[in-house]
Amino acid sequence: MASPSSTKYQLLPHCATHAEGLIIVATCDGASSVGQIGNEVARILTKTFPDKVRMCCLSAVAAGSKTHVDIFRKARAVIAINGCQLMCASKVLREKGIAPTYEIVVAKEGVDKLPTLDFDEEDVQRIANKISTEFIQKFQQ
Ligand code: SF4
Repeated sequence: MASPSSTKYQLLPHCATHAEGLIIVATCDGASSVGQIGNEVARILTKTFPDKVRMCCLSAVAAGSKTHVDIFRKARAVIAINGCQLMCASKVLREKGIAPTYEIVVAKEGVDKLPTLDFDEEDVQRIANKISTEFIQKFQQ
């Protein structure tokens, strides 16, 4: 799982190779405040816990990519981050027979769903901290 250090980018473990040792994160990436917060939360969690947490392509799961469905099926655990109560990320996973281990709805966390791609970094950090405290840190124990 070694990452080259000479690159300017933070390289991550390859999902397909390392899924069994990772908490894989699905985010709906909805085109609204809450969807974009969810995506940013997934990005931050991945970058904060690079050897334990990895966001993976939910669109590929929805499109039926066997490689990506298998990544979620093999994962150590699955987090679904949904922007709003429609819970698209969780539904896509369940339609493929994948039960999320932990689910969250950003719109239930004190954030209004607004027709904007802008968001407050404080909301991102607060929700990332909640997922980390409620699930990731406990899961590591
Ligand atoms: S869960 Fe809500 S925000 Fe996310 S893609 Fe579905 S409708 Fe959009």
